[in-house]
Amino acid sequence: MITPKFRANVESSVGYFSMEIGLSPEIPTYSGGLGVLAGDTLKAAADLSMPMVGITLLHRQGYVRQHLDSAGSQSESPFSWSPGEHLELMEPVVVVEIAGRPVQVRAWKYEIVGHAGGSVPVYFLDTGLEDNDTEARRLSDHLYGGDHQYRLSQEIVLGFGGVAMLEALGYHDVDVYHLNEGHAALLTLALLERRVTARTPQIVHDDDIETVRSHCVFTTHTPVPAGHDQFSSHLVRQILGEQRYHHLESTGCCQGDTVNMTYIALRFSRYVNGVAMRHGEVARGMFPQYPIDSITNGVHAGTWTSPPFQRLFDRRIPEWRHDNLYLRYAVNLPLDEIINARNEAKETLVAEVKRRTGKGLDPAALTLGFARRATPYKRADLLFADLERLRRISRNVGRIQVIFGGKAHPKDEGGKELIRRVFAAASQLEGDVDVVYLEDYDMSLGMLMCSGVDIWLNTPQKPLEASGTSGMKAALNAVPSLSVIDGWWVEGHVEGITGWAIGDERPESIQEQEIAHLYDQLENQIVPMYYERPYSFAQIGRWAISLNGSFFNAQRMVSQYALNAYKQVAEEPTLLAIPD
Ligand SMILES: *Cc1c(COP(=O)(O)O)cnc(C)c1O
Repeated sequence: MITPKFRANVESSVGYFSMEIGLSPEIPTYSGGLGVLAGDTLKAAADLSMPMVGITLLHRQGYVRQHLDSAGSQSESPFSWSPGEHLELMEPVVVVEIAGRPVQVRAWKYEIVGHAGGSVPVYFLDTGLEDNDTEARRLSDHLYGGDHQYRLSQEIVLGFGGVAMLEALGYHDVDVYHLNEGHAALLTLALLERRVTARTPQIVHDDDIETVRSHCVFTTHTPVPAGHDQFSSHLVRQILGEQRYHHLESTGCCQGDTVNMTYIALRFSRYVNGVAMRHGEVARGMFPQYPIDSITNGVHAGTWTSPPFQRLFDRRIPEWRHDNLYLRYAVNLPLDEIINARNEAKETLVAEVKRRTGKGLDPAALTLGFARRATPYKRADLLFADLERLRRISRNVGRIQVIFGGKAHPKDEGGKELIRRVFAAASQLEGDVDVVYLEDYDMSLGMLMCSGVDIWLNTPQKPLEASGTSGMKAALNAVPSLSVIDGWWVEGHVEGITGWAIGDERPESIQEQEIAHLYDQLENQIVPMYYERPYSFAQIGRWAISLNGSFFNAQRMVSQYALNAYKQVAEEPTLLAIPD
């Protein structure tokens, strides 16, 4: 459908740019945590009726669909979908220059309608126009696919195309540009260019940089170096062009032979944050020359609360939907009602496991859940470090079963190997511990798993987990975490109250110690409590909602962005306007 008119003079103050945005399972434009967080952020902004607009790429082939053979070897296929079934095609077409040639970009719109009727539009940029050559047309096909040239070209579409598209759609009042991860860094260059191109010669002055800085905020999402995009200077000159490369050089954004997107974002942002308190510390260590704050992630409560808990909250704490702080009063929920809701969510998951794998799990057995991107530092196989001990606990203390999920990036051989190791352990444990690995982890499986297991397991190598959000989804559903103390768990963990720790509070992992502690916790605390003291176990779930669900939600997170990141209104907002 084509809208008859552009939206003119729309009042909107925050432009939120993200390479991936996950809104629903049917729109496969996300790969994992980063995209889901972006979607949750925009949903919470809509709930709060905040003036915000999202910008991302269309990703016509999605990320990947995951297939696992009987040995756990992963193969992938594209996730083709029909944008027209979910999104509305907009009229404007803008042009960006990539490798010296013009590439046309159009946009598809999704309107998020918030709880109180506020709305936040999200625009998906698309280069699949007939007028573009084949190579250009494919730029909006694959999320995190292709080589460096492909990725850099996509970042040009996101940054330059996004800024131009907002203008073309009539968003003239964007005061704050939010760079969600370094992928969006080039938008700063697009803003800089607006000021410089009218001049001859095109020289960047200090006050140009200051003006751009006064409008940009940047959230960095990972301490893992591979998560920070770097391109060779040679490639940047070729794809971005000499003039723009020169702007980068003259503003100190090039380090020797490489251009690092995180440094561009840091250089051009007046406010920078990490995504949990600990991650802020780690990021300050990585980039000591910049002030870096922390705003801890949160999840969209309405999206990540399972139907049985939605009904329970609606009945007992009806205010929870418009004000998530009311979840604090879950502290008074009757434990029997928590237990009933948990049982219902668990039965739904067990039925889905049966449907997908044919395997019948026991709804009465203690069920551990683990699902996240399959990559070495997440250590999905830590639970299997000592199979004999795990077997003994399951035989002698109480039956344990485990449900896994998670895709490896197609090029992440270490991540693929990890999945095979989980499969190998599963077959060795047969008869003592049932282990299933569900294919193609996505938002819908995330919902089922985070709400349907008894314990949410998280074993990353410290200090590499920036935040982690799946444990927050679990908390909303009265599912306690058993986790290494990293990321959000540094803040959310109260031993024996909201869940359990693996290892101590030191910022680095000592693997042997963590393994021993993981088994100790299962053997001495968790398994006995689950089987012998079900009301104590349900009480932990209730604390998880009350202490953690009430805080680690996207409504609190977005309010903190508004207070700490967006609040400084630019002194001269009109300075960014395109010169006549
Ligand atoms: C929530 C979610 C994630 C992020 O989980 P982490 O704990 O941050 O690793 C990844 N993928 C999907 C599909 C999710 O729903």
